[in-house]
Amino acid sequence: MQIIDGKATAAQIKAEIKNEVEGILAAGGRAPHLAAVLVGHDGGSETYVKNKVLACEACGFRSTLLRFEDTITEAELLDVVAGLNADEAIDGFIVQLPLPAHIDEQKVTEAILPEKDVDGFHPVNVGRMSIGLPAFVSATPLGILTLLRRYNIETSGKKVAILGRSNIVGKPMASLMMQKQGGDSTVTVLHSHSANLAEECRRADIIIAAIGRPAFVTADMVKPGAVVIDVGTTRVPDATRPKGFRLQGDVDFDAVAPLCSAITPVPGGVGPMTICMLMLNTLQAYKQRA
Ligand code: NAP
Repeated sequence: MQIIDGKATAAQIKAEIKNEVEGILAAGGRAPHLAAVLVGHDGGSETYVKNKVLACEACGFRSTLLRFEDTITEAELLDVVAGLNADEAIDGFIVQLPLPAHIDEQKVTEAILPEKDVDGFHPVNVGRMSIGLPAFVSATPLGILTLLRRYNIETSGKKVAILGRSNIVGKPMASLMMQKQGGDSTVTVLHSHSANLAEECRRADIIIAAIGRPAFVTADMVKPGAVVIDVGTTRVPDATRPKGFRLQGDVDFDAVAPLCSAITPVPGGVGPMTICMLMLNTLQAYKQRA
């Protein structure tokens, strides 16, 4: 059984990006510039945005963090987005989700210029990706496909079971895996209304679990030799940890790992790749504007 090390792979890709940026700077160019908008003080969002800023530093990018209290109105946030769209110095930006309940997330997402939408959430990017056109691809699915490729895991013709159908993970993952120039796989998408979920998983050569249910995928759901990708990151209370919680994946790792040919751990699997793909999308946005 092989552990798929997302942390090491992400570090390698960030070093490759940094190298490319150093080349750009040496040739007299400017550094790519990512902006992040953070509304409120959600613990998870604070951590994600902090890690994104750190990743920018590791890649030699400029980063700008715009913070707002959760009292900001939807109209004010839309003005911020319009400002970033128009700002020539910004190559790409993200608005960290979730947003407070009084703000329509879809409206904000659709206000972002597709050319600066490095999260790949705008319907134009989602649509382009789903028909195989160049687009910014949602970072988590792109990170998973990149991990599979870097570990030389065959996906063409393989049966892939994806648990979860969210707009940011499950659906774009299914799109990517089914495409000829993507995974070229045979894809089954499972969700909370799927019948025979365990049986569908048992038939899969590759399981990608993105449901946010700790240790949901148990050993009896996994075919021996399968590849298991665990996207889940649920904060589970743990008094032995300094922060009082630990991150738990959607897979019962200890029971499932011995059965697998390869598996991602949580943390250290998909998570670091997600941020790394955001950096890659930002570099792409920069190059498209240069
Ligand atoms: P989400 O929007 O809450 O969607 C969850 C999906 O799982 C839904 O499609 C839901 O089905 C399905 N589901 C929930 N319970 C289920 C069950 N018992 N059986 C079958 N399907 C079930 O979640 P998300 O944003 O995609 O995130 C999923 C997990 O990945 C979370 O733990 C999140 O923290 C994590 N995540 C990690 C990263 C990373 O970088 N590591 C990035 C993004 C997300 P219905 O559609 O029927 O409701």
